[in-house]
Amino acid sequence: MTPTALAEAALPVCDAPPPPPRRIPWAKPTLVGRERDYVLEALESSWISGGPFVDRLEKEVPARMGVGHGVAVANGTAALHLALLGLGIGPGDEVIVPAFTFIAAANMTLMVGATLVAADIDPEGWCLDPDDVAKRITQRTKAIIPVHLYGNIAAMEPLLRLGEAHGIPIIEDAAEAAFSTYQGRAAGTMGRIGTFSFHATKTITTGEGGMVVTDDGALAERLRKIRDHGMRKDRRYWHDIVAHNFRMPNLVAAIGCAQLEKLDAIIAERARVQAAYRRHLAGIDGVRAQLFAPEVKPVLWALAVQLLAPEAAERRQAVMDTLEQEGIETRPGFYDLAQLPPYGCPALPVAAKVSRTVLSLPTYPDLSDADIAFICRVFAHAIRRHGLGH
Ligand SMILES: *Cc1c(COP(=O)(O)O)cnc(C)c1O
Repeated sequence: MTPTALAEAALPVCDAPPPPPRRIPWAKPTLVGRERDYVLEALESSWISGGPFVDRLEKEVPARMGVGHGVAVANGTAALHLALLGLGIGPGDEVIVPAFTFIAAANMTLMVGATLVAADIDPEGWCLDPDDVAKRITQRTKAIIPVHLYGNIAAMEPLLRLGEAHGIPIIEDAAEAAFSTYQGRAAGTMGRIGTFSFHATKTITTGEGGMVVTDDGALAERLRKIRDHGMRKDRRYWHDIVAHNFRMPNLVAAIGCAQLEKLDAIIAERARVQAAYRRHLAGIDGVRAQLFAPEVKPVLWALAVQLLAPEAAERRQAVMDTLEQEGIETRPGFYDLAQLPPYGCPALPVAAKVSRTVLSLPTYPDLSDADIAFICRVFAHAIRRHGLGH
């Protein structure tokens, strides 16, 4: 290049606005395998509704989790809806849900016409507290839904014992805990039914998608039927029951099959991210990361931390704003059910506090150690700046 050409080439750069600061998103799917190949294969095969990738996903996910049956559905919310319908839960029945939760379990409880009963959570792991659940069981309790938040798993041993003692099925909402284990058993496989989401932010994604798993073959058949218009398999257009279409398309399952091939790498990277965060966060006063019980081996979904200072609730947004100014996206904890107008739930002390003081930091497999160090540096600065250190 001649010097003049060089100058001309450089010219627009002088006028150009500075590049936007790099943004670290809160979540990001890892689409580094054969997602594209499989989607094209599904497209070219013309199997775009049902098809072989759905069958494959329904074999491979339960096999990996060590559970008998998997029923693929349109999303994680449909999975919960299907689980409740599959157990015949409806008007007059009570369903116990944690007061601090992603909303789907509460919504689907109300959608089937059942009564929502909120129970409090444990103050360190932020999942359903079995002692509080025990106090809320009545003759009408027909299901308990522990929601395994951020990769953690609720105290399943006491919850299963409670369920057994009272003849109440446990539905595990394991959307945020796919492949986490509790005493060696996979999240979602310990209760009567487990539900999963494959939303773009989740550990394994299909864009939108979900699955219900169970060891009960007859229940799995019933779930398939409800998923499929209530139609008899052996008699077309004959409907034994009033039902839905909750099916997952083959095009979408294709992405899930590719994701599963990378599952070990995804799990390993999430473990690395978790370890790196914990190293840095240990040195920041005034914050505590979510605590996992010794029984739990988490596949971290999102690194969540609680601000411990008395002013935490009022200043959490300011901390999040400071991170945002540095291009770091964070999310607040879920509103507890008592704060949300449609649910009519009373305030429960632990959920109320956790809801107002928790936030979660960017978590995804290709988040680098350098990015994690940067995030924690900015986070530590924000904590001090807003007077939330000890
Ligand atoms: C994501 C999520 C759901 C809902 O899944 P969708 O696929 O978005 O419908 C349900 N429960 C929990 C705990 C979730 O995190």
